[in-house]
Amino acid sequence: MADLGAIERTAKECRDCALHESRTQVVFGRGNPAARILLVGEGPGKDEDLQGMPFVGAAGQLLDKILAAVDLSEQDVFILNTVLCRPPGNRVPEPAEVSACARHREALLAALDPPIVVLLGATAAKAVLGPKTSITAVRGSRIVREGRAYYPTFHPAALLRDPSRKRPVWHDFQRIAKDYRLILSGAADAADDGETEPWPTPDGVESR
Ligand code: SF4
Repeated sequence: MADLGAIERTAKECRDCALHESRTQVVFGRGNPAARILLVGEGPGKDEDLQGMPFVGAAGQLLDKILAAVDLSEQDVFILNTVLCRPPGNRVPEPAEVSACARHREALLAALDPPIVVLLGATAAKAVLGPKTSITAVRGSRIVREGRAYYPTFHPAALLRDPSRKRPVWHDFQRIAKDYRLILSGAADAADDGETEPWPTPDGVESR
């Protein structure tokens, strides 16, 4: 299991972008440090800023329901945001803030080394896949890079604003859960063989 303590301590002292000026506290991740699924959101909202935990407001409660609907629990996932400090008024983080926070995200990604990364919304998709990424264009695809699979989908907050997006997100999470179980069974087989965990598909993009 990854020891995230040093990464969290470094993040909690960070003042690398202007968001440190208005935050109540740095909002680090939550979940299981041994999880094989990393969920990446946008930035902390008011509730998260006050409580110091990501995805604890209305969008977080919806995310928990989506995970439960595909039989995933907090033990299966680790959740963090693209930026760890709340943008004032819940605005979209600026590109400079996303870039400044990359060192914390990347340190966490390296420590957890999850085979599955779910990108919740445009900010996470642009941060990880590139600034020109359109979430509506890539949503529903599985993008495999260097053995890690990325699943861009809509942010739960977008579902609260536009319920017509619930159905595609439901399909996305069904696929994610199915692939996750494939990986778990593959990891068990590999362990039996004394090999490391394989990813079942080569690098590339598979559309919805
Ligand atoms: S948002 Fe990230 S880079 Fe900016 S101050 Fe907070 S932890 Fe540091």
